[in-house]
Amino acid sequence: MEIADIVFWPVAMDIKYKEVENMLDGYIDVCFFNGAIRNSEQEYLAKLLRRKSKILIAFGACAQLGGIPGLANIFSAEEIFETIYHSTPSTNNTLKIEPNESTKIVEGILELPTFYDEVKPLDKIVQVDYYIPGCPPPPKLIIQAVEAIRSNKLPPKGSILAPEIAVCDECPRKKEDKKISEIKRVLDFVPDSEKCLLEQGIICMGPATRGGCDAKCIQANMPCTGCGGPCPNIEEQGAAMISALSTVLGIGEEKDENYSVNNLISQLKDPLGTFYKYTLPSSIIKKRYKK
Ligand code: SF4
Repeated sequence: MEIADIVFWPVAMDIKYKEVENMLDGYIDVCFFNGAIRNSEQEYLAKLLRRKSKILIAFGACAQLGGIPGLANIFSAEEIFETIYHSTPSTNNTLKIEPNESTKIVEGILELPTFYDEVKPLDKIVQVDYYIPGCPPPPKLIIQAVEAIRSNKLPPKGSILAPEIAVCDECPRKKEDKKISEIKRVLDFVPDSEKCLLEQGIICMGPATRGGCDAKCIQANMPCTGCGGPCPNIEEQGAAMISALSTVLGIGEEKDENYSVNNLISQLKDPLGTFYKYTLPSSIIKKRYKK
């Protein structure tokens, strides 16, 4: 069924920004915008597409929440450039060259976008009408969104176009209300494919993550990493997961040294990358602040 013309899709069609600039404001019925905002070109495009679109949808975890690139918010732009252009083991940059925003060449001036100090989700730059979560968004959610658009049955603006459930709600694994005495990773062992991963000691973000993905990662014996963003009615996914974890760790119920919370927490690798993998720029923390 043909229901739409695609007028702009940079990765699939050769359409120039100029052509979008020449469109009348509101010419695009619906824009699916993917990616977070890290530089001036992305900000320009977000503002341009907002103006040209009747409905703007933040498509995927980066546009909705900041996404994995947002983890770089614990470093400044200066620190990122220092690492990338000077100090990685494979860098050979004896002339200490860094990209310039403006470079004069014989043919004219070459320009690069300004690299910002932090990553921001789309709604920190422009007003967003709807959100489709996921990294990547599950096909089922995309089809449902397109169908809602086609049949003019979109929910109120500001809605997240995904069910009001947690990943745990759609996960088929058995939960036995078991406490854990060890935190493990999937590379350490092959987990039992029937039992809850969290109760096997693997950090699974299912309790704090919005569902709608049919728990596909868990069905592949991999833990949920939280790409669906916070559960309905939860603002801070990382804090919600830390709270959920405290019940599995048996905090307050320590009976022997295996249940020492400090001992367990010290086994957790990369807490920020675990609890805030997709949400750091949209969380209360947002970035690392330095005096
Ligand atoms: Fe399933 Fe993970 Fe929830 Fe356990 S924590 S029930 S494995 S989604």
